[in-house]
Amino acid sequence: MKYTLTLSERHYEELRSLIIQKDGLERPAIVLCGRSSVENDLWDGGEEERFLSYRVVPIPENEIIGHSKTHVFWDTKTFRKAMKICKEENLAICVVHNHPNNCLEYSEIDNDNEPSLFKGIFNRNGEGRPHASLVITPDGNIFGRVWTYNLKSEKLSLIRVLGEKFQFHYPDKKVIATKDIFHRQELAFGSGLSKDLSKLTIGVIGCGATGSSTAHLLSRLGVGKLLLVDDDIVERTNLSRLYGASAADADAGRAKVEMLKSFITDAGIGTRVRAIKNWVGSQECRTAIKSCDIIFGCTDDHSGRMFLNRFAHFYLTPVFDMGIMIDPDESDLVGFKSIQGRMNVVQCGNVCLLCRMTVDPTLAREEDLKRSDPKGYFKEKDQGYIKGIDIPNPAVITFTSEISNVSVNEFLNRIIGFKKEGAQSTLTRFFDKGMDRKPGGKKREGCPICDSENYWGRGDIKPFMDNVN
Ligand SMILES: [Zn+2]
Ligand SMILES: [Zn+2]
Repeated sequence: MKYTLTLSERHYEELRSLIIQKDGLERPAIVLCGRSSVENDLWDGGEEERFLSYRVVPIPENEIIGHSKTHVFWDTKTFRKAMKICKEENLAICVVHNHPNNCLEYSEIDNDNEPSLFKGIFNRNGEGRPHASLVITPDGNIFGRVWTYNLKSEKLSLIRVLGEKFQFHYPDKKVIATKDIFHRQELAFGSGLSKDLSKLTIGVIGCGATGSSTAHLLSRLGVGKLLLVDDDIVERTNLSRLYGASAADADAGRAKVEMLKSFITDAGIGTRVRAIKNWVGSQECRTAIKSCDIIFGCTDDHSGRMFLNRFAHFYLTPVFDMGIMIDPDESDLVGFKSIQGRMNVVQCGNVCLLCRMTVDPTLAREEDLKRSDPKGYFKEKDQGYIKGIDIPNPAVITFTSEISNVSVNEFLNRIIGFKKEGAQSTLTRFFDKGMDRKPGGKKREGCPICDSENYWGRGDIKPFMDNVN
């Protein structure tokens, strides 16, 4: 069993401002967490219990009984209230404190006190799933552990802080070696990047032009595990844009994901690739995408992107959403009116794809219908009820590759911060006008995805992602 935790950046900042204060004393706080459980991951068949920060609960100063630079004793009044909420809302508790001296080990006092604290949770809530504890330090480190029902503790093997910047904390960060393959990129960015990337599981959803380019870049950079999801096969008309594809793949009708998996694996860089030939919202994909730390959304279907829009918020998994639009010149059979590319990051706090109007719920419904009930779909089509039309969009590899590069660069920037402060992080690129703009769109009042925090970090609930369809 692997235990990991994701803190959204806003919760991390909130925690720091609550418990790291000028007086240099220890302070406690609580984070209520959603849970995401994976029973049989595609890479190792292992289990993962992931805690997702849902809400920070401050401990009032008057509940601190005594504290110094190396200990804190506190009254459990607020803690007991938090336990009640956890029980009612099926959440986990994460108890947080700071180590003002930047010590990266639990103290003896911690080891003496935590078991009885956690025993209190198990006794009161009577539920067997683990809860977590976290220590943050003024110099920016985080480490933690979980307590299981039998009061055994286990280290958190990965802690993610995800927002405008990405941080990854894991116990062996100092000691793991990197491969000489990455020497030249380490000359620019140091070995920390290679280490982080080797620890990550990244999903590439949609393996067409932008997806094949993105997966290829991620593997060359040294990402440890890649998940490829796409339902299509290689066709001859893809060969002008699809990285790794050959005419033989097209003739054999090979699945895009299988082709790309071989292409990446054959490079011998060590990326462990898993391929799923299916739609991202399918049951088959759920466990796999829940194992991902970051997702690149390279699919051009509306229902797939609507699914990812929801997923990013429920599971605190940022989705780099990208697309190219070559607006055809309707006065002629060939030609274009404009060429635009876009790269957004879908994550808690940002305007969601529905509010940006980069997904169309009507087209998504039609795609869902076509997948689940093809007969019904064609019947509606004959009756003229279908809005979408099945004609191929114009596409050119140089533009799809450029947007893929821009997205992966922004992903790197969030880890290492190579861009200057204030540099644009997401963009709409007008290729034909030679300019970039910040993507538009405002949160629609009452949007359940981005205008309410209710789903952010909620994790596993029934029905899945509160979706009754
Ligand atoms: Zn401590
Ligand atoms: Zn929204």
